[in-house]
Amino acid sequence: MRKRGIILLTVLFMALLWGGSLLVVASSKQEPKLKEEAIRWIEDHQPLLIDLSDQIWGYAELGLKEFKSSELLADALEEAGFQVERGVAGMPTAFVATYGEGEPVIGLLAEYDALPGLSQKVSSTQEPLEEGAPGHGCGHNLLGVGSVGAALAVKEVLAAHPISGTIKLFGCPAEETLIGKVYMVKYGLIDGLSAALTWHPSSTTKVSNRSSLAMNSFWVEFRGRTAHGAGDPWNGRSALDAVELMNYGVNLMREHMELTSRIHYVITDGGEAPNVVPDYARVWYYVRNANREKVEELYQRVLNIAQGAALATDTTYQVNLITGVYNTLVNNTGVKIMHSNLELVGPPLFSSEELTFAREIQKGVEKPEVGLAEEIEPIKEPPKLVGGGSSDVADVSWITPTVSLNVATTAKGTPGHSWATVASCGSPIGHKGMLVAAKTLAATAVDLIYDGELLKQMREEWKEKTQGFTYKSPLPEGRKSPSLPK
Ligand SMILES: [Zn+2]
Repeated sequence: MRKRGIILLTVLFMALLWGGSLLVVASSKQEPKLKEEAIRWIEDHQPLLIDLSDQIWGYAELGLKEFKSSELLADALEEAGFQVERGVAGMPTAFVATYGEGEPVIGLLAEYDALPGLSQKVSSTQEPLEEGAPGHGCGHNLLGVGSVGAALAVKEVLAAHPISGTIKLFGCPAEETLIGKVYMVKYGLIDGLSAALTWHPSSTTKVSNRSSLAMNSFWVEFRGRTAHGAGDPWNGRSALDAVELMNYGVNLMREHMELTSRIHYVITDGGEAPNVVPDYARVWYYVRNANREKVEELYQRVLNIAQGAALATDTTYQVNLITGVYNTLVNNTGVKIMHSNLELVGPPLFSSEELTFAREIQKGVEKPEVGLAEEIEPIKEPPKLVGGGSSDVADVSWITPTVSLNVATTAKGTPGHSWATVASCGSPIGHKGMLVAAKTLAATAVDLIYDGELLKQMREEWKEKTQGFTYKSPLPEGRKSPSLPK
């Protein structure tokens, strides 16, 4: 009897083991169920995510100074069981949080920096919380927490349905100055990722299939000799003259550059008083093109103009390349996978109060009072001429297949980087958009972890597009950590 009992127990144990392995195999064909679990986790934890996002909205810390914001997110991930490495890539506010083991390794990108001078209450008229203080004019309070919410939800699925797979959340500082991810790529942190997913707050809800412009951000400092503006100007050599001459030269060059190029500048230092010949002047430039190599060519031409300006004005000059980024490499397979998950999740559903609040904001910025985007935009053929801004997500896209989502968090037509964006990104409108983003990112990550075929297709497209390509960091060699212009 005893022997038969042992045999029975052994058989039962074997059956359990077999059942357990069956569960893993079966789960790869049950993504809808696993995705539902991830989505449900986010629904059940809405108050936590909204609270995190509102705290970061309140901190509104500038790039590379996001101490409280990055700590808040890193702590939340650590408490949930992620291994967190802080102060990575030469930046105290950068971190990487990892959960799981083995391949595939899916990266989620989080940002949390604010913009200077945009402090604003959650109000439909311009009303600073604190005059001159920073504000979340790009909605990065939502961006960071949306990605963290997705990472936490995927972790729950991984824990409940063990399979080979890792989720990595990258805490990326200083996106507004296009710094964080360029350093993270340079330090090799993105190496080994199977794919990367991210999102950005927006006035529309769609998966992005548009590229962005490659760019160099740099300043040129000129040094001359001071003198009394009227007493002995012949003894002076004006650094401001050099800046003006350089800008004039660049403006003449505009006629002779491609339509896909953009150049803009501001004079950050131009002297203190008209009757003092300025011995120091500084101009800050952005040079952009749809192609990284063309940025390098244009950059050299601008530097030649700076040299000419220094020679003509008998001054000296110094160039400091602050940062540079690539253009974005779009992954259409990834776009389709994420789009189907966005449809599964659905667009943010706004209440009548939220629509009214959006219309009031639109009135405040003199835009048509049309409210909020309530539908998902279909995937359309992107425009032939790449325009618009630049992003440091672009550099990640050349290291691993990358997809980015936009979700409506602001009123249609309101300007980015404005008080209007700060107001809605601190309101329930922003919260709702953020939750849609978290769910869509989580569902997409579950797809890529539990359905090897989808990831394979995404990677094949990326491999084809990067054939013969070697990533060269736009940063100067030997540069270990970033610095920002004062
Ligand atoms: Zn942004």
